[in-house]
Amino acid sequence: MKAILFHQHGPPDVLQYTDAPDPAIRPNEVLVRVKACSLNHLDLWVRQGLPNVPIPLPHIPGSDVSGEIAQTGAEVTTVRVGQKVVLIPGVTCGKCGACLSGQDNRCRQFTNLGYMIDGGCAEFVRAPEVNCLPYPENLSFEEAASIPLVFQTAWHMLVGRAELQPGEDVLILGAGSGVGSAAIQIAKFFGSRVITTAGTGEKLQKAKELGADHLINHKTQKIREEVRRITNKRGVDVVFEHVGTATWEDSLASLAVGGRLITCGATTGYDAKIDLRFLFSRQLSLLGSYMGTKSELHTVMKLVASGRLKPVVDRVFPLAKAAAAHTYLESSSQFGKVVFMV
Ligand SMILES: [Zn+2]
Repeated sequence: MKAILFHQHGPPDVLQYTDAPDPAIRPNEVLVRVKACSLNHLDLWVRQGLPNVPIPLPHIPGSDVSGEIAQTGAEVTTVRVGQKVVLIPGVTCGKCGACLSGQDNRCRQFTNLGYMIDGGCAEFVRAPEVNCLPYPENLSFEEAASIPLVFQTAWHMLVGRAELQPGEDVLILGAGSGVGSAAIQIAKFFGSRVITTAGTGEKLQKAKELGADHLINHKTQKIREEVRRITNKRGVDVVFEHVGTATWEDSLASLAVGGRLITCGATTGYDAKIDLRFLFSRQLSLLGSYMGTKSELHTVMKLVASGRLKPVVDRVFPLAKAAAAHTYLESSSQFGKVVFMV
């Protein structure tokens, strides 16, 4: 099969469009003919290499897959050859206490397609049967592949961890990112008042079209001051963080008394500090979040199929142009998802 493969970590030009062996499936797995695969920041980190994460090389990246079932293992009973499918990115043991309690993103063997195992930037990918989601027929393959990782992550952050309540005020950083554009829609689904940030007027306009109520240009305005103005000095109930060092202090300063800060990443750096007096006197909660559960993605897909949550596709690249797509995502000029057509 054709695949994007890299033999060593490095800049986008380590990605090669080349021949790779067809994956061999196990009895509880399916082989999927990939139609589309969307890019995530995770793909950039996997390509660059992460400290203490020994990614098996050569490696095929890609976590977000839509396609058709090409082959089923002997034990597979719930899907059939030819059926359209979207894959849940998270692959877990399925047997431990965390998995059995439905918190499979806490499984110690948790990985994603394209992370410690080969992913979907290829003509075929193998995945466990339990990772197959019903296909939302209202979506194209490119749109369907734009859903899983970012919507699952944003849903787990806002609903699973921060326990968002109807009508709360939410600050969502980075409206143009995949998780940001998903979070705006989820928060609006819960009737929240959404304040969001971006670095260009064009991105802010798109955020408004997704339902954001208040817009902050982080290049020309100070986030904490705008949040104070918009909320009459109260602050917001929930801050949706994934930016890290560059926004951390503004994020903390934007919280109301009793507010929750939820973070899933740190694209601008891991160093952050906190004044403990501020943490206890304002009774704040700092919450970490990692990926999401399979069950949450089933819920998300129902809302996608009924049109209440929508994929946001920015740009589609042919798989052979993987290096150009990675360079484009690294430039942060996108609004929504960058997707490969296979
Ligand atoms: Zn497990």
